[in-house]
Amino acid sequence: MTRPVVVVGAGLAGLACAVELHRSGIEAIVVEASDGVGGRVRTDQVDGFLLDRGFQVMLTAYPELHRQFDVDALDLRAFDPGAVVMRGGRPTVVADPFRAPRDLVSTVAAGTVRRIGTPADLIALARLRFRLRSPHPARLLMGSDRPTADHLNDLGFSAGFIEAFLRPLVGGIQLDPTLTTSSRMFDVIMRMLLDGDAAVPAAGMGAIPAQLASRLPEGMIHLGAPVRSVSKEAVRVDSGEVKASRVVVATEGPEANRLIGGREVGSRRVGCVYFAADEAPVDRRLIVLAGDADGPALNVAVMSNVAPRYAPPGRHLVAAALPGVTVSSETVEATRSQLRGWWGPRVDSWEVVSTYSITHGQPDQSTPLHPRRPVRREDGIFVCGDHRDTGSIQGALHSGRRCAEAVASDLAA
Ligand SMILES: Cc1cc2nc3c(=O)[nH]c(=O)nc-3n(C[C@H](O)[C@H](O)[C@H](O)COP(=O)(O)OP(=O)(O)OC[C@H]3O[C@@H](n4cnc5c(N)ncnc54)[C@H](O)[C@@H]3O)c2cc1C
Repeated sequence: MTRPVVVVGAGLAGLACAVELHRSGIEAIVVEASDGVGGRVRTDQVDGFLLDRGFQVMLTAYPELHRQFDVDALDLRAFDPGAVVMRGGRPTVVADPFRAPRDLVSTVAAGTVRRIGTPADLIALARLRFRLRSPHPARLLMGSDRPTADHLNDLGFSAGFIEAFLRPLVGGIQLDPTLTTSSRMFDVIMRMLLDGDAAVPAAGMGAIPAQLASRLPEGMIHLGAPVRSVSKEAVRVDSGEVKASRVVVATEGPEANRLIGGREVGSRRVGCVYFAADEAPVDRRLIVLAGDADGPALNVAVMSNVAPRYAPPGRHLVAAALPGVTVSSETVEATRSQLRGWWGPRVDSWEVVSTYSITHGQPDQSTPLHPRRPVRREDGIFVCGDHRDTGSIQGALHSGRRCAEAVASDLAA
């Protein structure tokens, strides 16, 4: 009997790897510790609300989205290309933060960014857009590398504009309010925001791994089976040893480090507070950025404005994203107080549907960032996950696919 390839972990990387192996006719199984697929991309259903395990979005410009998915079947609902920046308790609508370099010029012509930026910021944005728009995104990941905060200073942005706009926007995406993440990640994320939308599937982010899992034959994924140790030819689970033709470790970085050693992977933590409201505090599909450092939330989204199924009829779901924060009852109340400063006493009547604290939201991507790390180790064990590429959905999917390709060529050799 032939031994299967054993993939450890059913997050996006493990699933992408398994789908590609299956497509190539290679026998494989997936062994997952938790009770479901998706890893960091899962959606819970609570009292009729859809709660992603932490606020997150799919960027429609990610190449692997188009390569690996039936995009129409995901029924993506896009945020409007714009944001509300809250400063001093007042909203300023900015035409297009996700594509800021392109559209801020028109925004400024309408006089709407006076409260958050200066003409020099607009020139810096225009220059940035010009620089980012031509190179292939992969080349941006090979550009000069320094902390994002230094990069923004060098690009000529004012301290006020960075604080009011770029820090909540970019820090929210990179789960890094300190802006110490590699400028290569900043460049590539800005490029993705220039080229496409931020979106969520109508049925929640969990629809993304669910689509991959649906391509695998029944019985190929084994849930609730934490892998205790691995070797080149077998993995050990509580019920015994599973022999393998090849082993792929597709867990998050710190767990991969525990199982097979190698590079230590740091963590960016993130919290999320979900509130239920009878009325939406904003009526558009815009992300709301915390332009003052006036509380733990860096950005807030009314999910039910973007994708109505996120809340039961007549109700709204407000997601407050808290990068760098572990949620406690104090942080929930600090978040409520921050949002009260924005939207008044009605926030007091909002119910907390649930909260999430994710210790390892993304790998630490401080400088020096080396994406596209090898997926085949010297000891013959294969490894994939966002820590091998970039800390993103794109990075996880890409690493999973190239790992499957490496396994296939190893088996064929
Ligand atoms: C709140 C939040 C917001 C984010 N926002 C965005 C965003 O807006 N856009 C974006 O592109 N990315 C975002 N990300 C990052 C993105 O979700 C991740 O980069 C990606 O999902 C990582 O996938 P992965 O397969 O590499 O790892 P994981 O999803 O962590 O999958 C690893 C899997 O391995 C399993 N596992 C671990 N140990 C074992 C073991 N011993 N045995 C068996 N199984 C094991 C785990 O249970 C898990 O299922 C966000 C992440 C979080 C948490």
